[in-house]
Order: sequence, then C-alpha cells, then structure tokens
Amino acid sequence: MARFVFITGGVVSSLGKGLASAALGALLQARGFSVRLRKLDPYLNVDPGTMSPFEHGEVFVTDDGAETDLDLGHYERFTGVAARMTDSISSGRVYSNVLEKERRGEYLGKTIQVIPHVTNEIKDFIRIGEDEVDFMLCEIGGTVGDIEGLPFFEAIRQFAQEKPRGQCVFMHLTLLPYIGAAGELKTKPTQHSVKELRSIGLAPDILVCRADRPIPAKEREKLALFCNVRPDSVIAALDLKSIYEAPMAYHRQGLDQAVLDAFGISPAPRPNLERWEDVTDRVDTAEGEVRIAVVGKYTQLEDAYKSVSEALTHGGMANRVKVRAEWVDSEIFEREDPSVYLQDFHAILVPGGFGERGTEGMIKAAQFAREKGVPYLGICLGMQIAVIEAARNLAGLKDAGSEEFDHEAGKKRFTPVVYHLKEWVKGNHTVARKVDDDKGGTMRLGAYTAILRPDSKTAKAYGTTEIEERHRHRYEVDGKYREKLEACGMVFAGMSPDGRLPEIIEWKDHPWFVGVQFHPELKSKPFAPAPLFRDFIRAAKEVDRLV
Ligand code: GLN
Repeated sequence: MARFVFITGGVVSSLGKGLASAALGALLQARGFSVRLRKLDPYLNVDPGTMSPFEHGEVFVTDDGAETDLDLGHYERFTGVAARMTDSISSGRVYSNVLEKERRGEYLGKTIQVIPHVTNEIKDFIRIGEDEVDFMLCEIGGTVGDIEGLPFFEAIRQFAQEKPRGQCVFMHLTLLPYIGAAGELKTKPTQHSVKELRSIGLAPDILVCRADRPIPAKEREKLALFCNVRPDSVIAALDLKSIYEAPMAYHRQGLDQAVLDAFGISPAPRPNLERWEDVTDRVDTAEGEVRIAVVGKYTQLEDAYKSVSEALTHGGMANRVKVRAEWVDSEIFEREDPSVYLQDFHAILVPGGFGERGTEGMIKAAQFAREKGVPYLGICLGMQIAVIEAARNLAGLKDAGSEEFDHEAGKKRFTPVVYHLKEWVKGNHTVARKVDDDKGGTMRLGAYTAILRPDSKTAKAYGTTEIEERHRHRYEVDGKYREKLEACGMVFAGMSPDGRLPEIIEWKDHPWFVGVQFHPELKSKPFAPAPLFRDFIRAAKEVDRLV
C-alpha cells in the first residue's frame, strides 16, 4: 500500500510547490521507490481545457486524453512517469461528480453536504491506484487560508486519520522574506501559515522554506520550535540557475532524508543520483548559444508554452548548448517584413494555437524559414500553417486556409486545406463528433500512433518508424491535397495508421523543416529529450550564419 505525502503551500503563491513535489518524486525514485504525483486544484472549472492560457498557463495533455494542469508536466519531466487522467482533479470536477450522483439518486435522498459528500469524493480520488506505487505525492493547489481550498484540506485531514499511523506525511511550503533593515530572514509569516494549518487540524512534518539565502541556525531552530517540526525537517529552497538543479539541491538540503525519516523508513536506501548529476552537468557545461524565435500568439506569458520552452531547454542539454528562446508576436509580421526580425535567429518554431488571430504572420514566418533554409519546427497549428503557406505560395491555391478561421469568422473565405475532422479512429473504434460540439473535451486528444516514412528526418530523429505522441486539436490537414503538395517538394513523412490523417510534413530540399500535428514537447524530459527537439536544436546549432 502506498505511503502518502501531502504538499501544501502558505504565505504566498508561486513558491514552486509543483517543482518541490516533482523534485521529491525524483529523489524518492533515486532511492529505488516507485512514485505517482497528483494535483488537487481548488478552482471551479471542471478542467483547465477551456481556460485561457493567459489565465492558467499551458494545458498539459496526458496519453489517456485528459486536459490537465501544467504542474502535471513538471511531474512527468522530473519522474518520467506518464501522468494520467486520474492524476488531476479540480473542485469543479469534484462538485460536478457529486451533483451527478445526487441527480442519479445515489445518495438515497440524503442532504448533500461538503462534509461528508464532497470530502468523500476527494478521498476516493486520492485512493485511485494506491496499490500500484510505493509513494503517492498529492499537491494541493493554492495557499492555506483560501476559502475554496478548505474541502481539500479537510479531506486530507480525514484521509490521514483513516490510514494506519505513519502512512501519511505533510509537507508545507512557505516563504522566508529577507528584511534588509533587520538584516534577517523573517520566520513570522511561516509561523502564521502553520498556525492557520493547525487551526484546520493539519500539522506539517516538513517545512520547505523558500529563501534568497541560506537559513542561519538561529532561524532554523526558531522555526522548528514555533512550528513543531524537527530542525532537520526545515529545508531551505534557494533560488536556482535552472529548475533541473532542484533534485540535487533538495537532496543536499536533506529533503528526501527528512521525508524518509518522517515515515520511519530506516535505514534509508542509498540514492543513485547519476541521472541528476548528468542533467546538472549539462546545465553547467553548456557552451555557446542558439537563438530560437517562437512565433505565436500567446507570447506575453511564457507559461502558456511551458512544455515547449522546457523541451527547447532539453534539446539544448542534448547538444550541450544554451538555448535562448524569444517569443515573437506573429501579428508584427502582418505589418512588417519578417526578415528584419527573423534573420537574427538560428531557427524558428511555430507552436500550437487556436483561432485566426496572428496566423497570417505565422504564415510569413513559415515562408521565410522555407525560402531561406532556416530550421523550422511547426507544432500542431505550426504544421497547419506550413501547409497553408505551401498551398498558397507553391501549389497555386491562392486562398488556402483553415476551416477553423472560417468557423470563427462565420463566413466562408478559404479553400480548406485544413478542415474540421468529424470522425476518426482511436485504437479499434471510431470517434465521431458533430459540427457544433465545439467547447471543452471535443478535440482529438491524447496519444495516437503515427507511421513514419523510413527515409524521413523524423524517422531518423526517433530511430523508428512507429511512434506515439499526444494530440490536442480539432482540425486536420486534408489528405486530398497531398499529391499537389508533394509535387512541390513537400514530404508527407508520417500518417495515421489507417493512412488517412497527415501527421508529419517535411520539405525534401531543406536543411531541417518539420511540421507535426502532435505535441512532441509534452513527452520531453531533461534526461530523455524529445527526439524532434533534440534534432531541431542540433540543426539550429549547425546554422553558421550567426556564430
Ligand atoms: N487550432 C488548431 C486545431 O484545433 C491547432 C490546435 C493546436 O495547435 N493545438 O486543429
């Protein structure tokens, strides 16, 4: 049966709770344990699928097709454990499950209340798959004291009570602000946060304290005394050059040891940290720099493309080079010549996106990359854009476009080389959807297989001709234009197993130009970079125009 670590946060948000959880997962793995990480989010949206990337950052998609919080991406990048639909839940989902059960009469006419009905629903969720792993790490979103978080805190309190003693450990993340006038790291906000936790019946076993400098012994003892934890369970979380240094940094601070001590696991198995030593070494020894223009729409908030930016970093690690990604708003190219901006970059990436805004600029960027031989990676919308560009500028389909843009505008303007897919094959069954099934959960989501042309750049990157990658889209390149486009030099390098859906396009006579209908960034890890990102960065590194 799994042991449970519950991770909560206090004082302020954005302290890196997700990162601390992910790093702890990696360290427990290094000690030979199996882990699974989960996120419990207090917001009321049923899932993040329909939330704007500006609001919530990227939507992370799992193999089994769930649209989840970007923290699950962190978990996967650090542990390599593929996240599942059942690894993320929001208050919205909890309440919607409870209300559905109530409508079906499953509560036999009882009055439905937060305790026990909502808390039971949360506890049932936490228990899913508890026999499969040694440790289940559950992170509660938000900070202690938030009204909407209360049912989750209450649920984990009950949960720990119901389990045998020693089965659950609580880890609390806080901030120690440095006050210059006093010359001290202040412990009071942490004391208050723990007091708040205690008032709802939770007592942390481990305190992880974000600070901009090491915690002196005096403050450590004070925290231990006032917060009722052992001094060696006060762990400093200092600022890092790269998030991938977190497992080694937390290990040096004694986090994994403190967690194992809290569970009474003694003697603790010795850790094997080779993987993380190698990753840290790659961060430290990177030489030179490649500059990548990420040409998209949601460029103000880097979190909107979290996995893309991490996968670029992983590609850099594989090639021992620093990657500087600059986010370029594609709308600029609708007014100005793209070459003025783009000539300073080693490579161009057009990431996924929705809606028509900015797409004309992306088309210009794809044209620039094709004509000038600049390495290009087009992801999802970025592949569709490359096809539209080719159709317009080479195949003579002057008004080529995507049905998505016409749907949005409510009128027909384009020849739909990218069309709305209504029916497709998943495994051994067919999925169908209606034209107006437009919001939330109606996309082609999750892992699908692609069959690659053996002589393609993509097959070379993966070292195989059959791959499985994650999808999240409604529209699809129309195979009926294939011949026309191939006559112009485009290679349909990968197709769905039934041969109907184009999954990958490349240009034959181009140093490195690949467009993919899926999201290779979602499965990239620092210790196992996504093959396409690795080769994309290698191609960028080989561009000697600038170095
Ligand atoms: N908007 C496009 C579609 O739905 C692309 C989606 C994406 O880039 N993830 O097909």
